[in-house]
Amino acid sequence: MTLVVVGASLAGLRAVESARRHGYSGRIVMIGAEPHPPYDRPPLSKAALSAGAGGGAQPFRTEAELRSVLGVEPMLGVWADGLDTAAREISAAGTTVRYDSAVIATGAAPRQLPGSQGVAGVHTLRTVDDAAAIRAAWDRGARTVVIGAGFVGSEVASAARRRGVEVTLVDSQQAPLSRSVGTLVGAACIDLHRAAGTELRLGTGVAGLEVAGGAVSGVRLATGEVLPAELVVVGIGVTPATAWLADSGIPLSERDGGVLCDETLATGVPGVYAAGDVAHVPNPLFDHELMRPEHWTAAAEQGTAAARHALDPDSAQALPAVPYFWSDWYGHRIQFVGTPLADEVVIATPADTGLTALYRRADRLVGACTIDRPRVIMKYRRRIAQRAPWSEALEFAAGVANPV
Ligand SMILES: Cc1cc2nc3c(=O)[nH]c(=O)nc-3n(C[C@H](O)[C@H](O)[C@H](O)COP(=O)(O)OP(=O)(O)OC[C@H]3O[C@@H](n4cnc5c(N)ncnc54)[C@H](O)[C@@H]3O)c2cc1C
Repeated sequence: MTLVVVGASLAGLRAVESARRHGYSGRIVMIGAEPHPPYDRPPLSKAALSAGAGGGAQPFRTEAELRSVLGVEPMLGVWADGLDTAAREISAAGTTVRYDSAVIATGAAPRQLPGSQGVAGVHTLRTVDDAAAIRAAWDRGARTVVIGAGFVGSEVASAARRRGVEVTLVDSQQAPLSRSVGTLVGAACIDLHRAAGTELRLGTGVAGLEVAGGAVSGVRLATGEVLPAELVVVGIGVTPATAWLADSGIPLSERDGGVLCDETLATGVPGVYAAGDVAHVPNPLFDHELMRPEHWTAAAEQGTAAARHALDPDSAQALPAVPYFWSDWYGHRIQFVGTPLADEVVIATPADTGLTALYRRADRLVGACTIDRPRVIMKYRRRIAQRAPWSEALEFAAGVANPV
């Protein structure tokens, strides 16, 4: 028996750990494009950008531990480039690996700004090597423009201010993080940036880059304004890493190319499951809406489940998980559970005691966002999982805001 895991990051590692925990003693091959063993990405936009920090991410497991503790045959620095579902083979670096079960955990790759290829000083942030390049630019005192005020872009701006770097954050939306938390809470996040001295250009598109001698010198906005910059960090979203699955027969989303799974993470191709940022999964808690959360907790939970289901399909169950993410800006913690796609959003607790916003769909609580209220967010996660009525959630929020 051979389990092949493609993608050596969070979802892939959790898949391997779960297989061993559930007693699987067969062969495991893990194919990963990066030369590094699996490491954690959230610190890349936080501690790893601080002055004086080591920079290099700590691996979850060293390559030696992958071999000795988990009994894995790691193929690191190797791109998988095809999957033959009839022969049950994955091709990589000129060889093929036969699988009985496979987990696709190839995650997602950052979208590039058109016209930025090959321009020095323009970076995305996905890998430990990207983080090192940004740190090095800040060591040289680079003025910085961040394009995209999602959670990665906002965290980069926060890290820049912590180092005293001048930074301007640009987004075509009117508020930061609006895709993830909606515009009402996004508007509240504007104050976090302003209070820390981050310049904002919101509701403004980017027209192009100013380039001198092959290196970026500024960002030209649609308004005609030019923001001088020696470093541009592009955080405009990601695309599922599935080019290697083209023509494989694995079902892919027409919208973004992500792998389409059922509620048990099965792709419909015998033996092949998917997990993490690469996977679209219908969520039974939210009217079977297809979700691809792009967050740490989902990748970890799905990786764990995918291997178990791949090795024992008869035991496979739907994953009724409530999506969760956190983001750290300027010493504030933003946390979100559920979905921002709602009929109504209300600020249930105002900002001076820490903000809580609740999201209603029909008569149910479907989402909650907090700023600096870490002890309460999981109580909303449980309520969403239990399909709590909206009125009960509002009562609970009022009680938390005014404890007796
Ligand atoms: C800078 C940053 C900060 C973040 N902060 C937070 C946070 O604060 N909170 C939160 O909830 N989430 C955060 N996240 C999101 C979280 O880290 C991701 O959701 C998680 O890493 C997804 O794991 P994954 O294993 O599915 O995919 P990935 O981590 O993307 O890993 C996929 C791996 O597969 C490899 N690969 C791709 N194609 C191939 C191929 N053809 N062959 C072999 N290997 C391949 C890739 O190189 C990569 O190593 C952050 C992400 C980033 C980038």
